[in-house]
Amino acid sequence: EESANYFLFEKSDIDCSLFDRNKFDHKGKNGRVLIVAGSLGKMGAAYLSAKAALKSGAGLLTVHIPRVGYVPMQTSLPEAMVSLDPEHDFVSKIDKVDEFDVVGIGPGLGMNPKTGEVLKQLFTSFNRPLVIDADALNLIALDKELLNLIPRGSVLTPHVGEFNRLFGKCDDGLERIEKVKLIAVEKQLVIVLKGAHTVVATPDGEIHFNSTGNSGMATAGCGDVLTGIISAFIARGIDSSTSARVGVCIHGWAGDIAENTVGKTALMASDLLCALPQAFCNVK
Ligand code: AMP
Ligand code: MG
Repeated sequence: EESANYFLFEKSDIDCSLFDRNKFDHKGKNGRVLIVAGSLGKMGAAYLSAKAALKSGAGLLTVHIPRVGYVPMQTSLPEAMVSLDPEHDFVSKIDKVDEFDVVGIGPGLGMNPKTGEVLKQLFTSFNRPLVIDADALNLIALDKELLNLIPRGSVLTPHVGEFNRLFGKCDDGLERIEKVKLIAVEKQLVIVLKGAHTVVATPDGEIHFNSTGNSGMATAGCGDVLTGIISAFIARGIDSSTSARVGVCIHGWAGDIAENTVGKTALMASDLLCALPQAFCNVK
C-alpha cells in the first residue's frame, strides 16, 4: 500500500486553531525567530524572509546580517531587531542562539567559507529545529558531512537545483520524490522540494503535495518569503512537519491572491508579503 503515504494538501486542511492567540498573550509567547541571511548585494533576501516571519505571526524577530545591511534593514523593517556580524560583506560568526525558538538560515547568505563554519557551529550548538534554505543548502552541498549534524526535525527547503547539488541528480520527478522520502526518513528531517508542485516529505515517511501557487511565483525572492513563514510557525510551537505543510500552502495561497491583484507578469516577492494578511484572514 505504497500510495497510502501520499497526500494532497489543500487550504481546507489548514487547522485554523494553529493561529489562535490568547487574550493575555505577550510578544514573548508568540515565538522568537532568528533569521540569518544576506550578504553584499543580496540584502533584499534577508529583508524578505524577516518580513515574512513578522507577517506570519512571529512575536519577536531578530535578523543576523553583515554590517553592510545595517541601515537599510533598520529603516525598511523597523519591527526587526538586528544582530550585526563583525564582517562587512558576509556572515562569519553567530553567538547567543539559545534564546531563539527557531533559526531560519540561508537566503542571500553567499558562499564564503567562513559562513560554512557558522553552519557547523550552529548545527552543533542549537538543538531546536532550523529552517535551512538557499546558500545554506549550497554550503552544505560543499561539505556533505554537515548533513549529519543538522538537528532532527529541521526543515530543508531546496528547489530542484539545490536538491541536485545536495543529493545528486535524478532521472525524473518520480525518482526524485522517492529519494526525498527516503532521505527525510533516514535523516529525520522535513524536506520541502520546491517547484510548480511543491512536495513536503516528513520524517514519518509521508509525502504531501501542495495544491496552491502559480507560475507568477517563478521570480526572485519568492523562496526567501517561504523561509520566513515556516520559521514563524515553528517558533510559535507548531511542529516542523505541520509548519512546512501549512507554510507551503499559505505561501502558494498568497501567490494566488497576488496573481489575482497584480497578475502573473508583474508579480514579485513583495506582493506575496502584501497578500499574506488576506490568506491568514481566510483560514477557516
Ligand atoms: P526559490 O526558487 O527559492 O526562489 O523559490 C521559489 C518559490 O516559488 C517556491 O516556493 C516555489 O514553489 C514557487 N514557485 C516557483 N515556480 C513556481 C511555479 N511555476 N508554480 C508554482 N510555484 C512556483
Ligand atoms: Mg531560493
